[in-house]
Amino acid sequence: MNSDIFICWLFQKYGYTHLSAGELLRDERKNPDSQYGELIEKYIKEGKIVPVEITISLLKREMDQTMAANAQKNKFLIDGFPRNQDNLQGWNKTMDGKADVSFVLFFDCNNEICIERCLERGKSSGRSDDNRESLEKRIQTYLQSTKPIIDLYEEMGKVKKIDASRSVDEVSVPSLPS
Ligand code: AMP
Repeated sequence: MNSDIFICWLFQKYGYTHLSAGELLRDERKNPDSQYGELIEKYIKEGKIVPVEITISLLKREMDQTMAANAQKNKFLIDGFPRNQDNLQGWNKTMDGKADVSFVLFFDCNNEICIERCLERGKSSGRSDDNRESLEKRIQTYLQSTKPIIDLYEEMGKVKKIDASRSVDEVSVPSLPS
């Protein structure tokens, strides 16, 4: 499943504002005035999780700006977050009493299909992590750091799973809160 197409669809159907942690980090890396550019690039290339202080400040800034422009836009689909224990603690500390997490949308897809899709994307994405070496590191990071966080949300009954190994036409979508 192409998650970008799916997320656009969610945006239209449910009115969520889509924020991608990875995209915000890539934008910050491009900013010549940012003190974090080099550090972010190093983490992304190595498939590692960027320190939470950076990621959460970017997410919070986007959320605050979106709601300042339109107070009704207060539902966010945060793509690629939380990715590890550090992310989760940072979120709980910064957002305590300010945001409710309704659900975690989990795109379940086997490793080889993910790698093939990202290699295909790499033909035009220009991303420094769309290569086999970075992707294999990302899978290790996912297994060691992200999967345990998904398991935690699963125990809380908050995970909505999508079988993302199937083609765009075949994927079925769980019902989501609006
Ligand atoms: P993505 O755009 O979701 O494919 O993420 C690309 C890369 O950005 C990841 O491999 C990480 O290096 C970094 N990244 C994305 N999301 C996060 C996050 N929540 N916390 C820290 N680093 C992240």
